[in-house]
Amino acid sequence: MESKIFGGGVASSSPLMGNSPEPTIFELSAPGRTSYSLRATNVPKRDLSDVVPKEFLREIPVDLPEVSERDLVAHFTRLSSRQYAVDLGAYPLGSCTMKYNPKFADAVANMTGISDVHPLTPASHAQGWLELMVTLEKYICEITGMSEATLQPAAGAAGELTGLLIMGAYHRARGGKRSKIIIPDSAHGTNPASVTLAGYEAVTVPSNERGLVDLEHLRKVLDEEVAGMMLTNPNTLGLFEQEIYEIAQAVHDVGGLMYYDGANLNAIIGVSRPGDMGFDIVHSNLHKTFATPHGGGGPGAGPVAVTAVLAPFLPGPKATLIEGEGGAATYGWTTPKHTIGKVHGFFGNAVVLGRALAYMLYNGSDGLKEVSQYAVLNANWLRHKISEQYDIPYSQWCMHEFVASAQRLRRQGGIKALDIAKAVLDEGFHSPTVYFPLVVEEALMIEPTETESFQTLSILAETLNKLAKLAETSEGQEALHQAPVNTPTRRLDEALAARKPRLSFDQPPNH
Ligand SMILES: *Cc1c(COP(=O)(O)O)cnc(C)c1O
Repeated sequence: MESKIFGGGVASSSPLMGNSPEPTIFELSAPGRTSYSLRATNVPKRDLSDVVPKEFLREIPVDLPEVSERDLVAHFTRLSSRQYAVDLGAYPLGSCTMKYNPKFADAVANMTGISDVHPLTPASHAQGWLELMVTLEKYICEITGMSEATLQPAAGAAGELTGLLIMGAYHRARGGKRSKIIIPDSAHGTNPASVTLAGYEAVTVPSNERGLVDLEHLRKVLDEEVAGMMLTNPNTLGLFEQEIYEIAQAVHDVGGLMYYDGANLNAIIGVSRPGDMGFDIVHSNLHKTFATPHGGGGPGAGPVAVTAVLAPFLPGPKATLIEGEGGAATYGWTTPKHTIGKVHGFFGNAVVLGRALAYMLYNGSDGLKEVSQYAVLNANWLRHKISEQYDIPYSQWCMHEFVASAQRLRRQGGIKALDIAKAVLDEGFHSPTVYFPLVVEEALMIEPTETESFQTLSILAETLNKLAKLAETSEGQEALHQAPVNTPTRRLDEALAARKPRLSFDQPPNH
């Protein structure tokens, strides 16, 4: 492919490009350019068809960009400097737990004994890795109040599917095939998606006026077709389900299982445990709570922990203590008796597991408890600080996050949650989550996380309040409608950008 903008010449690495659009890597491409070249040797050249059977050879060369290493690095470095990131500042994106991840966990994950071990290494040569997994499983079970866990699932949603497959295997083993899973209307979008993917029908229960599961309504939809219920506690409004015992009892009474969506464990670690609340299956997002940075689709891990009754259905193989203890312990691989099979190649996203264990050991049980306490304290402090300027529809004590509403601003001067979110970008913060959960109009879902300092939170609160005040004057409204003005791109037509992404420099914007 020919370079379209630089005429095949040296791709510009000029910082003078400023805010002009970054070309795609294909547009930087020049025929024949490579990122490396090998020195001439006396090894005779052979044709590819001499070494690869003909049926495996491509007829048409694959259309890959051809760029120098220098241009490649400059391209991605330029792009990276146009992004907002957790390492740049506060990122109060509700439900996503975009907290700062300490660098020591990266250092541990990068140790050669952890990062360079091939997954096919025999157990006898990978005892340290097996011990790491066994120890991590033990801690996850301790934190969640469960008996055994699989570390295989690659993320939260993968954990949900794994948990639902385990539920299905459990019901089938008891001779029944159930068709329905109950989820509350405030559930994270992955919950109904996983339910459908697992072949169940999703039955929604509404929230009551306090933003919690309506127990009376739940009782009405429970019957012998219900395989289980999926619940996030605290829920997506950041509220703790106070009737959790009654909810779990009601589901268990019809033979259903309780699934805990523990993506946001930083709300409860060291304080309460899903197992003690009556849950049977719990996934946790190591890439939210336990030191793996996430976003942009990077590797994650969504271990699924279960009660002893469900342990035989877990995916395998699992790292297991075979015999002995301490320095004399021997570890190996075992496969649970009625396993649902593998849910990931090899043992999951292994370095994420290494980071999580490092983080747990570094914090200890007292430190992990403080993680939750600060997450909850920060969210409540911020909620209180902005509660005069914004409506907080469910204003009781929240857990690690809360949902504000821009409805008043909209009525007053036509300022929407989206306008506030865009203006927040100009102020040097990432935006909160907007328009989710659906049960709140003009929702701004704010999760400050435990890692932000008092000073940062104060500035964030001032910023949010300042923007709400702007909404009171016509001049301010005009400014809010214009935002963002300091970002590499201004406001996009998001629907169009998602449906018709602009993948070439030649296309006019948003076409
Ligand atoms: C993030 C999140 C998920 C999904 O986790 P992924 O790792 O993105 O698949 C599920 N439930 C809740 C409550 C979440 O916050």
